[in-house]
Amino acid sequence: MTTLDEMDSEMRGRDFMGEIGDTPYYALALCGEAGEVAEKVKKWLRDDRYGPMNTERREGIRDEIGDVLFYLSRLADSIGYSTNDCFTAYVAKSNRRRENGTQRGDGDFR
Ligand SMILES: [Mg+2]
Repeated sequence: MTTLDEMDSEMRGRDFMGEIGDTPYYALALCGEAGEVAEKVKKWLRDDRYGPMNTERREGIRDEIGDVLFYLSRLADSIGYSTNDCFTAYVAKSNRRRENGTQRGDGDFR
């Protein structure tokens, strides 16, 4: 598998949490992995003061971003959408806000 769509197809139907469903598990895992990305960036700040990023640090962050993408994709799939569906919805929302001049402000439906 080389794309998120291929992974969705391969993973679809796998059941981790049984009758309670996988959606909460994936949402929590996504937050955990996003925290791991932030932790590695924090260590770059703490240890290198945002100096030049070495290969080991870049690859560590890359790997955690991969974990984020995995759980993001699984979360989307668990509610019946592909990652592409979610990105398409984001682009439509972003375009609508730009056209309406509502990029700033509050509310999901501005
Ligand atoms: Mg991880």
